[in-house]
Amino acid sequence: MKHCPACGAPTHLRIPPGDNRERAVCSSCSVVHYENPRIVVGAVCHTGDRLALCRRAIPPRIGYWTFPAGFLEMGETAEEGAAREAREEAGVEVVVERLLGVYSVPGRGQVHLLYEARMLGEAHEAGEESLEVVLRPWVDIPWGDLAFPSIRWGLQLALEARDQPGWVPRMTAAAGAPDLPALPGDLQS
Ligand code: ZN
Repeated sequence: MKHCPACGAPTHLRIPPGDNRERAVCSSCSVVHYENPRIVVGAVCHTGDRLALCRRAIPPRIGYWTFPAGFLEMGETAEEGAAREAREEAGVEVVVERLLGVYSVPGRGQVHLLYEARMLGEAHEAGEESLEVVLRPWVDIPWGDLAFPSIRWGLQLALEARDQPGWVPRMTAAAGAPDLPALPGDLQS
């Protein structure tokens, strides 16, 4: 049973007046505790011909590759969050330049905003959540060892967007099972 963060009393699931779905409602102070999806922000960080990849030091998927991504914090814009994750996880300073796509994971209650970011120089360093950070050529992405489907999707979009100044951000399927674009033939692993 969940307890009310406001007063500590037990909560019960019921449909509040005027609502259409069950919520955790406090049995004592009647406060309704809404639960909504969380925002994840990530950035494909590049120097032009290379991009920064991190090998995860924390579960889940320890040892697998990702670009910097994590939960948005209170008080920051999505772009500031993406730049912060790049600094924290990969030790890179970036300018967040454009939105690549929005990846919904309704089963986990997450929405990922995936950006492309330009690195200011080549300095990089593994943060606490990374085992190592490397600058890899675009043709050398470890497709078989990526941490999550959203990371694979973001990298595929970044590749596709590279030569498109007029890129339009992509959407995932509502079911959360995105239609992955085919990999360019020479990049399959
Ligand atoms: Zn309460």
